Amino acid sequence: MKTALFPGSFDPFHDGHLEIVESACRLFDQVIIATMVNPQKATRLFELDERQEMITQAVSHLENIKVVSFSTLVVRLAKEVEANVIIRGLRAVTDFENELQMAQMNFSLSGIDTLFIPTASTYSFLSSRLIREVARFGGDVSKMVPPAVAKQLKERFG
Ligand code: ADP
Repeated sequence: MKTALFPGSFDPFHDGHLEIVESACRLFDQVIIATMVNPQKATRLFELDERQEMITQAVSHLENIKVVSFSTLVVRLAKEVEANVIIRGLRAVTDFENELQMAQMNFSLSGIDTLFIPTASTYSFLSSRLIREVARFGGDVSKMVPPAVAKQLKERFG
């Protein structure tokens, strides 16, 4: 069985993430979405358990999927869940340099390859940081995030 691990902060999970997950579900027997706290990102909106719950609702239409949260190294989790591949999404060249470095580090630590899935151009402007900022100031992001996330953002910011 081929398993892919899709790790990320997902704070919050948005339609760009969902598109990557749907592609991965078509390519692999099992996909594991793992939400984590990224130490490079100071601002946190939702707690890990809240993110995990929202993602679980957002992917409930998919069968070969599991959602977990973690606070260890990505490669350690990948070994633990016996993932064959780590998935990352790419929006633009600006993502590439960081992602390449991370993929090479993960490969050198574990021998696990990273597969990059490019986003559809419709979603390439989406980022969790922008969604947080727009929602915080009352902007409507409901067309950019799954309904479960839109509901939580509304409860948080009104
Ligand atoms: P991280 O803190 O790990 O970068 P993010 O939640 O920001 O977590 O992103 C998780 C993954 O989703 C990353 O691979 C990122 O490049 C990808 N991603 C983020 N936004 C989009 C988007 N709009 N389309 C496709 N992939 C995206």
